[in-house]
Amino acid sequence: MEDKDLEFFRHLLTQWMEKLLDHADDTVEGLLDSRENLADPLDRVSAESDRAWALRIRDRESMLIKKIRNSLEAIECEEYGICEDCGEEISIERLKARPVTSLCIRCKTKRESIELLNKV
Ligand SMILES: [Zn+2]
Repeated sequence: MEDKDLEFFRHLLTQWMEKLLDHADDTVEGLLDSRENLADPLDRVSAESDRAWALRIRDRESMLIKKIRNSLEAIECEEYGICEDCGEEISIERLKARPVTSLCIRCKTKRESIELLNKV
């Protein structure tokens, strides 16, 4: 991959991660707020489900943050955009659509069809 492409993805991934980290702070603050005013049992129930929902979102976000971090590390080692299964370059178009992918479309499709077969 060319330097200018690496630079493009480094910028994109860094911005994305910063946005997610900002949002993660909001989620935690929201969780703390919801501990207030829980005298009414009904409020308590809804606060609990809000909290469960917020935690689920946060789980998903932290998984994404981990993936972004891995991609940024790969950029540092100049391994970004290399498919982890076959070692071939992943197309720029695919990376633009899914910047955190570590598989080329062929290997991704292959893995998905194996997963499908395992489910049957
Ligand atoms: Zn591949």
